[in-house]
Amino acid sequence: MNDQRKIAYFSMEMGLAAEIRTYSGGLGVLAGDTVRAAADLKVPMVAVALLHRKGYCHQILDSEGNQTEEPVEWVIEDYLEEIPARASVKIEGRDVHIRAWARDVVGYGGYRVPVLFLDTDLPENDEVDRGLTHHLYGGDGRYRLCQETILGIGGVRVLRALGYDAIERFHMNEGHASLLTCELLDERLRTDEEDKLTDEVVDAVRRQCVFTTHTPVPAGHDQFPLEVVKQVLEGRTVEMLERLSCMDGVLNMTYLALHLSHYVNGVAKRHGEISRQLFAPYAIDSITNGVHARTWVAPPLQEVFDQHIPTWREDSYSLRNALCIPNHEVWEAHTRAKEELIRYVNRLTNAGMELEVFTIGYARRAATYKRGDMFFHDHDRLRRIHDDVGPFQLVFAGKAHPQDGGGKELIRRIFEARASLKDKIKVVYLANYDIETGKLMTAGTDLWLNTPEPPLEASGTSGMKAALNGVPSLSVLDGWWVEGWIEGTTGWSIGRITESVPEPADREKDASMLYDKLEYVILPLYYKDRDRFVDVMRNCIALNGSFFNTQRMMAQYVLKAYFP
Ligand SMILES: *Cc1c(COP(=O)(O)O)cnc(C)c1O
Repeated sequence: MNDQRKIAYFSMEMGLAAEIRTYSGGLGVLAGDTVRAAADLKVPMVAVALLHRKGYCHQILDSEGNQTEEPVEWVIEDYLEEIPARASVKIEGRDVHIRAWARDVVGYGGYRVPVLFLDTDLPENDEVDRGLTHHLYGGDGRYRLCQETILGIGGVRVLRALGYDAIERFHMNEGHASLLTCELLDERLRTDEEDKLTDEVVDAVRRQCVFTTHTPVPAGHDQFPLEVVKQVLEGRTVEMLERLSCMDGVLNMTYLALHLSHYVNGVAKRHGEISRQLFAPYAIDSITNGVHARTWVAPPLQEVFDQHIPTWREDSYSLRNALCIPNHEVWEAHTRAKEELIRYVNRLTNAGMELEVFTIGYARRAATYKRGDMFFHDHDRLRRIHDDVGPFQLVFAGKAHPQDGGGKELIRRIFEARASLKDKIKVVYLANYDIETGKLMTAGTDLWLNTPEPPLEASGTSGMKAALNGVPSLSVLDGWWVEGWIEGTTGWSIGRITESVPEPADREKDASMLYDKLEYVILPLYYKDRDRFVDVMRNCIALNGSFFNTQRMMAQYVLKAYFP
């Protein structure tokens, strides 16, 4: 069986279910959706991630929005199965033993894609090494490089120990797994008498490797100082990196992956353009992200789809037929999804939200470039719109990275706005944003808001989940929305498409354009022309749900990257 798998997909995080706490945000959820689509389409894939035994992360918010975190002790045996095979890597001169836990993801037709979670918490390891697979994005640079050694080098060795010997492509989902290229080179050198890193050897490995870059934000591109690299990695690997000219002052994981991949892509057309500017002269294509339809469509809409589009589960393209669903059925299903969200929110927060009130959703990792507090730029204007045009309420969610002071400050500012608008506009901030909260919010709101600072949103995927559920977006023109946006048909824009070298973002201008759309276009449509509003909802499913899904995305990876 194992010797028939042709593609190995490597990802530092993996979002398979809310309870399996091996993901932090978009990157991990995308990895999960990717594996689900591979299983649907019977793509012969195996996936590799780290176990993150202490889970990412339990968010606690006090009444002022101050975030603290606790580790999550999830019971691994409840979800994953231990595999007897072992492998090891050298870290700081010590042998670090690795075990793997597995879970099969089952596709629509019953085809299975195994996901392996690597774990160093074994009694035969040194105490420090046992903790190396505990914390997702925890610790310092040294800790991170140790983790990337386990994922990249250890991951390949675990696959070999399990008999995965026919793998033709190694897909690096972000640069965290770049060191797998060194192991693939080393595999060739170990069997080669001359033991020389020739151009032929490098080319052969390049043909095996695929790299997807996920962000233009510098923090998304790992760099390690040479002292740390020399301390952690084996001398043989360091020499190899030097000969590849990848140790120019620092070890940059993005450049390592770029240098050793035959196919590189960004995650939306616009992100492809930005990446080509950032990483000239590398050839960088784009494959726009998607979401997995069966996973993200809420049960009431599933029922309607089952009735009118019976093939939608196996074939996401058929969602284009959503234009045939009568408007009142879409509206009824949406109302049921909204009821469920409102009940959940009221039970949790005692906010007294109302079903009839226009509800805006916003859920993202709390990072400053995402500008989650922009909506609250002008309280007076918000109050005026609320009174003169129609009432609205807002549901927010999102964790800040434990070490991101700016992100935490952003959450506090949203709490301040909530307090000051309390007399009129209801705002809730749900703690512990995860896959389940995400499902409720993207299906149960009436409008999905996104206000990142261009061009920093590589793709964004929560707006795609909303579209699948018939929820239109109001968003800055960045990431996927540049492709998904048809003004007044699939949603609305905030501002225009900025030039490739953008002007500094003007918060005040962006906020005022956001308010204009809300005041003059969206609220009047919702309250005074409901049937036209539901037309937009149907378009979201038919035009965007049928395209921005991982079945289409996976088919493009197969054609462009895996088997061109
Ligand atoms: C979809 C999702 C994300 C990513 O959403 P973006 O729009 O890309 O920011 C993050 N976290 C969770 C829990 C999600 O479901």
